[in-house]
Order: sequence, then C-alpha cells, then structure tokens
Amino acid sequence: MKFTLEYAKQLDKEDILNKFREEFYIKPNSIYMDGNSLGLLSKRAERTLLESLTDWKEHGIDGWTKGKHPWFFLSEKLAEMMAPLVGASADEVIVTGSTTVNLHQLVATFYKPEGRRTKILADELTFPSDIYALQSQLRIRGYNPETHLIRVKSRDGRFLVEEDIIEAMTEEIALIILPTVLYRSGQILDMKRLASEANKRGILIGFDGCHSIGAIPHSFSDWGVDFAYWCNYKHLNGGPGSVGSLYVNSKHFGTNPGLAGWFGSKKEKQFDMEHTLTPAESAGAYQIGTPHVLSLAPLLGALEIFADAGIENIRSKSLKINQYLMDLLEHEVPDMGFSFGNPLEDVRRGGHISLEHNEAARICKALKENGVIPDFRAPNIIRLAPVALYTSYKEVIEVVQILKKIMAEKQYEKFENEREVVA
Ligand SMILES: *Cc1c(COP(=O)(O)O)cnc(C)c1O
Repeated sequence: MKFTLEYAKQLDKEDILNKFREEFYIKPNSIYMDGNSLGLLSKRAERTLLESLTDWKEHGIDGWTKGKHPWFFLSEKLAEMMAPLVGASADEVIVTGSTTVNLHQLVATFYKPEGRRTKILADELTFPSDIYALQSQLRIRGYNPETHLIRVKSRDGRFLVEEDIIEAMTEEIALIILPTVLYRSGQILDMKRLASEANKRGILIGFDGCHSIGAIPHSFSDWGVDFAYWCNYKHLNGGPGSVGSLYVNSKHFGTNPGLAGWFGSKKEKQFDMEHTLTPAESAGAYQIGTPHVLSLAPLLGALEIFADAGIENIRSKSLKINQYLMDLLEHEVPDMGFSFGNPLEDVRRGGHISLEHNEAARICKALKENGVIPDFRAPNIIRLAPVALYTSYKEVIEVVQILKKIMAEKQYEKFENEREVVA
C-alpha cells in the first residue's frame, strides 16, 4: 500500500505545505532533488528582485533610502526575517558577505590566542572551504596549520561522535568551528551539548550552518552558541551567489570587528565619514563594505515563504518525506549495492539522504539523463534532497521507480564513473 502511486498522492493531498509547491518554478518533466545545493527560484523571490531593479530604475542613488526596499537597511531588514530560523534576536543576525568570507571575519574577530590556548578545533569531515579559511587565518597570525589546526577524526568516515569532539576540547584550544549538519552524511551535530561543553571550558564555539538553516529549527542563543555563519542559496532558496549570513551572540556585542569596513558602522554615524570607526552595537558591526543589493533582493521573497510555512512544519515534512524516500529505496532497490550513509534516526538526520554506491558517479549521470537532478559527492555518494517546500511525495516515488529501472537495465554502464567539473 505504502509503495503505490495512490498512496503517494494521498500523502500529497494531506500535506499542509503542498500549496507552496506552485510558488516555485519547477521544470516540467524534471524532478529536482538538489535543493540542498541550490534551492529553486520562487515567484516571490523573483518579484522582490524585480522590485529592487525598479527601485534602481526609478530612484537612482536615492534607492539607498527610498523605494520599495531601501538598500541601506536591507541587510538589517533581512536579518529580522532570518532571526526566527536560527533562534536569535534580530540584532544578533546580519545578512552580509558569503559563507567563507563571514568565516574569515568571525575568526579574525573571535580567535584570540593567549598563553597555551592557541589552537583551533575543527573536524576532518568538514567542508574544504572552511579548512582553507582556518589554515590561512592561522598562517596570518604566524602559526603553523599543521600543528595548530586540530581536526577531530571520524570513526567511520561518515559521522562524528560528540564525545570525541568534547574530548578534543583541551586547554590548548582557543576556538571551535564545526558544521551544524555534515554536508555529505547529513548528520546533525548536537549543537546544544557541544556549545554547553565549550562554554564550560571557556572556549568560543562557532557553527557553519549551510546545510541546516531553512531545513531544521535552531536555538543558537538559548544553546549559548558564540557565533555562526551560513549561505542563503541552499535550503533558503536565495539564488545563485546569494549573499550569506552571520550570527553573533549578543554577549559579544562590542567586540571590535577583525576585518573592519564602513558598513560595520553604527548606521547614524556611517556618513559622518570619520576616520575612526564607530561599530554598530549589533551583529551589523561585522559587515564590511557595500552590500550586493541585487543578490540580497531575492531573499526578501524567499524568506517570506519561510515565515508563512513555519520552520517547525518544514522540519516535520522534511523528516517525513525523507523517511518515505528511505522506505521506498529499501523496498524497491534492495540487493543493488546501495546503503545509507546518513543517520537513520530523525533527531540526527538533516535535510537530505546520502545514498552510497560504488557506481555512484555514473548512476548520477543516468539519473540526470532520466530527468532526475541529484548531486554526487566523491567518491561514492548520491545525495538526494526532497525539500519540504516544493518536493511532492509523488516525485519521490517516481525517483525511486526511475532508479530501479536504471539499476535493472544497468543504464549507468554507458557512462564513465567519474564526476563532472561541477558536481
Ligand atoms: C555550501 C557550503 C559552503 C560554501 O561556501 P561559500 O563561501 O558560500 O562558497 C561552505 N560550507 C559548507 C558546509 C557548505 O555546505
């Protein structure tokens, strides 16, 4: 029963978020399973982008303070919309920069080596850009990344064990940077516990939220997280190259920005043009220069949808539809060499499924040829992300049927088992 098209259609009918699907541009004859890498365009995001262009057209320079979405306050306005998604007050968030740039800013600001506390703690499964940023930050301060960047090991190459991370929080650690959700396996780290353990030891802790913001609820302030940063083009559907975000716990307001620029000024002071910076008394202090307005504008519409849908509802559907995908896979393609590389329990699973297979690269190519858009992560992972706001249960069952056919007919054999330039 559960494995029939009728059942999937019934789930769609009962889905309280189903009305949001028609707000998105969904390509006909194509099933998008990659919303965790680049979210789709919504009509609301398109509208707010076009409105911002109109503001430019009609107001020229005055668009900074006039028009529908005055640019001078856009980062703060978006922060207000973003704050509920991370469990923060509006002034603890700012929509600015990009993931990697914001990490640089936060490390430049909060990494304060002193006495024996000189090392940075990260993990061996984290996203490479974060590691490059940390290595370069250490070099700038005259430390050797080989000795000063500690990477917690994974026991199985997929997951991290919180106890291992806590054990590595020694008196030599000045700063901890961890992902909220691991980009390959989709494992959620226990942020509350890790923040509390770091707080106890007087170590600052920051999180990379790229794979969780917009997919799961957060309570950064209640958990005692010191800072966080994330991109807005994945689950948040802000568009390619969308401006990123950062969070700074209010207890750190007043800490001078490591990388200063005039957009970090108190708003009223910025145009005094003094050569002494008066930083904003908020997360806004960590902005650097003029915001990329046209890459901010789609977020106005995109975040409106999150407010309407509610992050708790999004999480409920995400769990349910991902579980449905896993159930179908187990039922329809057993004994085909697939295994799950994601946590099976709800509390530890983020917004995507990580399907492992020796032929993963070319199975992905065969999926694409059949109109299914997954993504591939070397060496053997097919990531599939049914997204709460726009994926239907019907699509999920179709994806599994297509995969079953590809495997039965060995369609993947006509492709090379190598990744594309962009995977
Ligand atoms: C997508 C992603 C990034 C990307 O960083 P950019 O600076 O936006 O290119 C960084 N970290 C993680 C964990 C990601 O998933």
